[in-house]
Amino acid sequence: MGLSYTGRFAPSPTGLLHAGSLVAALASWLDARGHNGQWLVRIEDVDTTRCVPGADQAILQQLAAFGLVADGPVMWQSHCNAAYQGALDTLVKKGWAYPCGCSRKDIETAIASAQAPSVARHQAAVYPGTCREGLKGKPARAWRLDVQAVQTALGLPVITHWTDRRLGPQQQKVAEEVGDFVLRRADGLWAYQLAVVVDDAAQGVSHVVRGQDLTDNTGRQILLQRALALPTPQYLHTPLVLGANGEKLSKQNGALALDLQQPFQALNAAAHALGLPRLPENTTIDQALTHWTALHAQTLGTVFASEA
Ligand SMILES: [Zn+2]
Repeated sequence: MGLSYTGRFAPSPTGLLHAGSLVAALASWLDARGHNGQWLVRIEDVDTTRCVPGADQAILQQLAAFGLVADGPVMWQSHCNAAYQGALDTLVKKGWAYPCGCSRKDIETAIASAQAPSVARHQAAVYPGTCREGLKGKPARAWRLDVQAVQTALGLPVITHWTDRRLGPQQQKVAEEVGDFVLRRADGLWAYQLAVVVDDAAQGVSHVVRGQDLTDNTGRQILLQRALALPTPQYLHTPLVLGANGEKLSKQNGALALDLQQPFQALNAAAHALGLPRLPENTTIDQALTHWTALHAQTLGTVFASEA
């Protein structure tokens, strides 16, 4: 019998796990267990400029201290260059990816001269597609996906729709709100979106459970799945854990690494953030995980209600 559920936790080794990343790890683990599925771990070290040496092994040790151990071999993105190159080659062959010679300054200038400030005022600047018609003598720096070419060739709607298991119906006009996004960066590194889509398919991931801060990537990833003829997993974005200042906990804003001397307390707090009951201090980690798995399995339809 093949497993119908494969989930994953995919930390970036830019530092140790903090309370926010433990919530995402626990949520993905519980959802896999609740579905009698398997849970995999992937180290997202594709952006080598941000990785901290040794953080990958330290994260795996942290997860083990919380009773969260992968059901299969751990995957490292830095070992997957050939797969990413193969995906880019496929897109280039179809005419759906093109080289871009624009510097950041070129893009800013093009946006200013197009006088189209209404687009994505609230987001990073949308690339205006300058190099879609050719490099015009500039050297190639990055590779981008031609979003409209993919949508037209595959008969996809301009608005990409999907249903998040917690957030409900979602939609994004990728061409307008994001633009032709980068597949391979000017510094030669693979872009996060391409790596995630290729890896989720390679690991047979059927269910993605990750932090709500990553919701905005989903439209781009679904489009890439279509372009590469890969299956689309089901998505569930978990509530974010906010720090005392009301901002998302992250390594960037100084969230503390988890205390491995008190793993149960950290796990209890993570479960509480997911709407699960706190358990008494004398509970073992194994007992707690079993208890929460059973509760979660009963309520898969209304999983991980937001609550502070
Ligand atoms: Zn360009």
